[in-house]
Parts: sequence; structure tokens; C-alpha cells
Amino acid sequence: MKRLLLALILLVPPATSEIRPGHRLPEGSYHSVREREIDIEDYAADLRFDMEREEITGTATLTFTPLRSGLKEFSLDASDLEIQKVASGAGSASFSLRDRELHISLTQALNPGQPGSVSITYSCHPKTGMYFYPKSGTRAAQAWNYGEGGLHYGWLPIYNDVNDRFTVKFTITVARPFVAVSNGKLVETKENPDGTRTFRWEQEKPIPNYLMTVDVGEFAQVPIGKARLGSGAISLAAWTPPGTESAAAFSFKNTPRMVEFFSERFSYPYPWFKYDQVALREFAIGAMETTTATGFSESHLHGPEDPPDSGPAYTEPYPTWSYEDTIAHELAHHWFGDLVTCRSLASIWLNESFATFSHTLWNGHAHGEDDLTYQRWRYLNKYLDYVQSTGMVRPMEYFKYRSPDDMYQTETTYLKGSLVLHMLRHFIGDADFFRTFEGYLHRNEYGNVDSADLKEAFQTQIGRNLSWFFDDWITEGGGHPVFQVSYAWVPERRQVDLTVQQVQADLPFENDFSLPVDVEILGPSGSSVHKVELKGWSTSASLPADTRPRAVVFDKGNWLICEIKFERSADETVYLLEKADLAARLRAARQLAEDYPRRPETVRTLARVLGDARNHWGLRQEAAMDLGRAGGAEAGKALVLASTDPDRRVRRAVAIALGFVADGESAAALRKLIETDRAEDVAAAAEISLGRMRGEGAKDFLLRQLSRDSRYWSSIRLGALLGLTYLKDPSLVPAFRSYTDSRWEADLRSAALDGWLAAAPEDPELARRLCELARDRNRQVRLDAIEKLGSLHLSADVKFLSDLAEADPDPDISEKARAAAEEIQSFPKK
Ligand SMILES: [Zn+2]
Repeated sequence: MKRLLLALILLVPPATSEIRPGHRLPEGSYHSVREREIDIEDYAADLRFDMEREEITGTATLTFTPLRSGLKEFSLDASDLEIQKVASGAGSASFSLRDRELHISLTQALNPGQPGSVSITYSCHPKTGMYFYPKSGTRAAQAWNYGEGGLHYGWLPIYNDVNDRFTVKFTITVARPFVAVSNGKLVETKENPDGTRTFRWEQEKPIPNYLMTVDVGEFAQVPIGKARLGSGAISLAAWTPPGTESAAAFSFKNTPRMVEFFSERFSYPYPWFKYDQVALREFAIGAMETTTATGFSESHLHGPEDPPDSGPAYTEPYPTWSYEDTIAHELAHHWFGDLVTCRSLASIWLNESFATFSHTLWNGHAHGEDDLTYQRWRYLNKYLDYVQSTGMVRPMEYFKYRSPDDMYQTETTYLKGSLVLHMLRHFIGDADFFRTFEGYLHRNEYGNVDSADLKEAFQTQIGRNLSWFFDDWITEGGGHPVFQVSYAWVPERRQVDLTVQQVQADLPFENDFSLPVDVEILGPSGSSVHKVELKGWSTSASLPADTRPRAVVFDKGNWLICEIKFERSADETVYLLEKADLAARLRAARQLAEDYPRRPETVRTLARVLGDARNHWGLRQEAAMDLGRAGGAEAGKALVLASTDPDRRVRRAVAIALGFVADGESAAALRKLIETDRAEDVAAAAEISLGRMRGEGAKDFLLRQLSRDSRYWSSIRLGALLGLTYLKDPSLVPAFRSYTDSRWEADLRSAALDGWLAAAPEDPELARRLCELARDRNRQVRLDAIEKLGSLHLSADVKFLSDLAEADPDPDISEKARAAAEEIQSFPKK
């Protein structure tokens, strides 16, 4: 899955210089691997969808074998299902519903090896797992499912965890012109005399419940070509609302090449029958890797001039997820997640970190190694910023959490997890690293895994015992090292004496790390790279250097997940920024801005880097942000000059950085970008900056932008709302309130709530509206509204939230409501 990132306001440009001791591990109850009574082998559901009544009726037939001797009773997860009948073999079985479980008593006891089957006839108006959206304006009705974290029990009687796999057959009847898209092969489409159609899909390789899917809507099927795999081929298609065919064809055009790339990279050909990608209205999250039929938020439908984001997130220059990242990510899940599935949520990193790692591999393959180096740098900094602001760390595999959502924490599970794999890849080398993947996939195909299985793969495939690494990063440990580095050249010995101290807090889960590190010595006549083994709290090494080095690079390539405090002169830093490889230049730009902010040469150097089109665009983005951080008239001038740069990625960073400079010229440059830049992400970033500056006339100027339509999503409106939020002006409440309406995208609605909260937190109307939105159709809006309701600290809302926590079958909603009620009780305002 790929989470939906709502556009949160970034108050200061990120900086990672400050070392914060006292990291903490997350709390929550311990979740062991769930126990099973039966092994489901096949799940066949024959269902009729009534799109107007938002109702599902039909029969689900489960074929299973008992896992215990003398099995007479078992239960399935079922929430808010009306069960009419349960049949077992030729007769009927008795059943009861309690505690969101369907308890079934068989007429005759079964033993392992004796297959059984039950057919459950039921109906439901789903509250979770399947989401209906009615016809609205020109938009047709849609129903789609989302099941990660155990939600499918709201529309299917099912075993609701990841550690059971079965083949799946969905037979779906819907009124014309609706279409039903599902897992596997479409084996039959039948026209019925009553004006309905029946679609029969078969998924012949076993999958866990959360990867089952049925999407119903008015979809056009757009062919996306074929992926060639050896002598065979895989067909790809997009299913998209009529009128969006060309956007779907454009957005998904690289997918066949991605299928070929991953098949080759993992030495395991794409294992499924076909690959469909479905564009869904107000989808619960960014995207979900339901096997062979991935669901995407419609924000993934792009035109050639649209922003690269998978959903608008214009507060940052570099989108953590480009839409191409997400498309590659969901596809990569078809190996890591779908073919080999984590045994429980505690090991979700084996799905998510691997898919994230994979999409970064695609990025490097498609756009060049420098783009991947920059992506790793951005992900590292996002992770470090997260730890700095929250103090939260944890190992990749972790059994304590409050709700499933905790395990999908973006910076830890996705970003840090992908970097853990990059770090390991660097230590081991690509050939052996990917050979381990190959063995791991073959050995565990169509099965469940935890981290011990991965460790075992390294042992059996390449003979490596990686206990030292798993102990620090994966199954134990949790944080990251902070290195204090210094060096001196000793002419008598012709050596560089390097000293590395680990200065992170000495906590049981974050004590001294053992790691190899590459150290580069740049001299007047070339450079040399040396491997140094870091062990214990302090490491010293003497490295050969015939002449005085011009500079020394610690961790060449930026492979380690760490913070580095390197004591070096401004001259050496500038030298690196101008002469070293991209990884070292990125780090040098940051160091120059942080360690030497008052030096006039700093701004001149950064301005030079920003203005030179031969530099990598990522380095130029960093230079722009660093200039914003430095501030002052000279930095402002350089940024204004770069605001007309031909590269939109550079302009986007400039638009953000200008907001921190905040003078008259910056404001004028921002207004120009807002009114004239064809790149809507640049214009939106400029709107946010203009609001942040709170200058004269900003309010009226930004209010005018709210009437502008955008090519992509509601980019211009979103930027304006985020900008207006900074003004904290109560007179803006009517404007904010109008964008909380359900006809707007979830991003816009959340931004409007942010604005309202900032402008008039005491407004009684706001609390009322948040209570309404806590019961909205859109799950993301619900989660957001519940959290905001908690932040108001109104005692009157405790009962509402506690009742919601009790009644809602969605564990994430329930936990969010419980936490919000608790927050109010800990500090009630009235
Ligand atoms: Zn994912």
C-alpha cells in the first residue's frame, strides 16, 4: 500500500543538525501471530451489488481443512453482516453472531486431511472494507474495497489476518453499465435478462484476504501493452472512468517495462496471470496492491504537464512519492507482499520496505543513478526529521502497536526500511544481495515470512551470518548512530589519522553500532577510498595519504543511516561542494548552510550551485532550500533570479525557499509564479509561501486564486487554502468551511479544516462540523476529523468519541477515536 499524504504545513525547512538524546520505542500491546482453527483453501463468493441501495447480497463458499483434530466448531470474522443461512455439505449448520465473529457448528467433526466446506448466505450494507460512493453530478457511482489491517470482515465472512492463503473466485452481478474488476482471470461475462451483467473472475494462485478485491464502477478498459518475459508475455490494462482514458494511458505507460525490470532484477518472473490498474474515486489510501488488480487513487491520473506527485504535497520540493514511484511500488508488491507475505503485521516491513526499496531501484534504472542517490538523501532526511521531531524509533520488525495504522508509519516502515535494504545491498554487493532475493522468493513463494526467513536466506544463499546487522537494525535495535568525525594529516607518516566517535545516547536499543564505512581521501592528484570497520563507541584508523588531503569524505555515497557531525573547515566544505560526487556535494551543501551560515561566501557558493544548470537538479533544489534557510537580501536575490529557471523542479524549491526570505522582491516573484507558471505544483508552492510571509494584500490575492480551476487535481485551490491558513484570520472561516464539503477532494477538505482550526479554534461551529466529518464517507477525512476533534480539548466531545471507538468496526478509526477521547480527558479545556 501507499499511504495518502495529506498536505501538512511545513513550518521551517528541515534541518537535522541538532542531536536529540532520549529516543523512545513505541508503546502498545504485544501482537503475536494469530492462531488459526482451519486452513482455507478456496474462497468462492457469488455476490450481487446494488449500487443505489449500497447493498451486497449473496453467498460465500469456503473450502477448508481443519488444523486441529475433531474440529466441530470454528469462527470467521464478520462485522455487521446479516446471515441468512449457513450450509455445510448437504445439510445446514447452526451458527451464531457475537463480537464481530460468525461461530459455525458443523454437523459432524472433521480431522486434519478431511476437507470441509461451508456456504454462507448473507447481505450487508458495509460499514468497513467495501466503500460505496453514490452518483454525483457527472460522476457515476462506484464501490471499491480496501482491506489492509483487517477491514474485509465488513463485507465478507472471512479469516481477517494475513497468515492464511487461498484461491479466490468472485462472481459479481451488477446493473449495466457497471463493470466489476477483480483478481486473476476474467473467465466469463454474462448478460442477464433483468438488465444486469455477471462477471466471473478466478484467482488461481493463493492469496491472503487483504489482497482480495472487487471494484465496481463505470470503467473503460485501456490496454497498457505487454511485458515480455522469456517466451511468454503478461497483458496489462488500466480500468478508468470514461473520459480519463488518455490520462490513464499516459500515467501507466511505463508499467510493462517495470514488469520486465523487476522480473529480471529479482530473477523471478512476474508470477501472476495479468496486471490491471484501476483508478478509484476517493480511494482510501494512495494505492493498494490487491493481486493483479491494483487500486489507485484518481490522483494518479496525470497529463504530461502535471506535477510529478502521486497526490498533491506541495509543501515540499521533492515529492516523497512521485506517481511513478507509487506505480512501481504497487507492482513490486506483487513479489514482496503478494507472492511472499509477512506472517503478521509485526513483520510488515517485509512487504512495505521491500516495495519502497524496489520503487527506488526503478527510479535509478529509469532516471539514472544520481536520481536514486538524491532520493536516498531525501528519504534519509525525512526519516531523521521525523525522529528529531517525535523522538520515536523502532526496529523494522516490531510486535507492539496500538492499531494497524501504527505499523505503516511512513518514515520508519517505508523510508528507513528502504534505506536499511540499500545499506545492506552496499555492504554485500549487488550480485550476492539479489541472489539472496532470488532464493528467498523461491523458497517462500505463496507463503508467509518473518525476518528470520530473510536472515536464513542470507545464510543459505551466500553463506553470510548477518546477526550483527539484524540485531542492530531489523529484529532488535531501533535507532541510528550519530557520528562525530575528525581527522588530521600526519606528514611524517604520510597518513590521515581518522577518529570516529559514536555520540548517540547509550540506550539498550541504540547503543554502539558495528558498521563498515567507506572513507574517501581527495588529494591534489586524485582520490582513494578505504573501508574502515566501525566497532564500539570510538574507532581510530590511519589511512595512507602522501600529500595533505584537500578533503576527506566519511561514508562515501551516503549509504549509512546516520547523522554525521564532521569537523571541517569552510574551505574544505566548499571544495567538496564543488568537486566531489553528488552524495558528498549534497552533504556539503547542508553543512555549509548549518555550520557557516553567517559567512558571506556561503550564500555566494550556494547561489552559484543553484544557478548552474550543469548541476544535478536535486543538488540545485537543496541549494535553494539552504539559501532559504540562510535568509537575507543576497540569498533572496539569488532565489528571485532562479525563479525563472527552465527546470520546474528547481522553481518548486525556489518557490518554497522564497517564503523564508520574506521581503518585497520575494513577494513579487511569488505572485508572478502564482499567476504565470504553467507548472501547477510551482504555483501552489508559491501560494503557500506567500501565505507564510503574511504580507500586505496576501489575503485578497490568495482568496482570488480559490476561483481558479486546475488541470491536475485542485492544485491551485489547495495551495491557496494552505497559504491562507498561515494568516490565522477569523474572517476566512466561511471560505474554509465551504471547502469541507464532500464534493471536494480529501486533500482540500483536510487543508480547509487546518485553516479553520488555525483561524478560529474556539468556533463552536468547528466542533460541530468535525463531529459530522467523523462520520463522513471518506475514511481519510474521518481519521483527520477525529484527530482534530481531540485537539480542541472539549469535554463535551468525550462521549461522542468514546461511543465511536466502541461502535466502529474499523480498528484504525476506533483507535483514533479512543486516543482523541483520551487526549481531551488528559487536558480538558471546558
Ligand atoms: Zn506498499
